[in-house]
Amino acid sequence: MSAQPTCLYCQHANPTNETECRQCGMPLPAEAARAGERRLRRFTWFCVGLTVFCVVMFFWLPRSIA
Ligand SMILES: [Zn+2]
Repeated sequence: MSAQPTCLYCQHANPTNETECRQCGMPLPAEAARAGERRLRRFTWFCVGLTVFCVVMFFWLPRSIA
């Protein structure tokens, strides 16, 4: 944990408990990392859902082509 999270956009040093930059209002690195984690988890579940969908379609659709 760094003492003062520095804004990636304007390089303004913010107090530790801030989640957004006091100067420009952009999310600070810690908060941005959490958001990225959430996005990655959503993407993982999307891939799992897509795989399940493909497997279901593979067995559900008729295989008599030709
Ligand atoms: Zn800033």
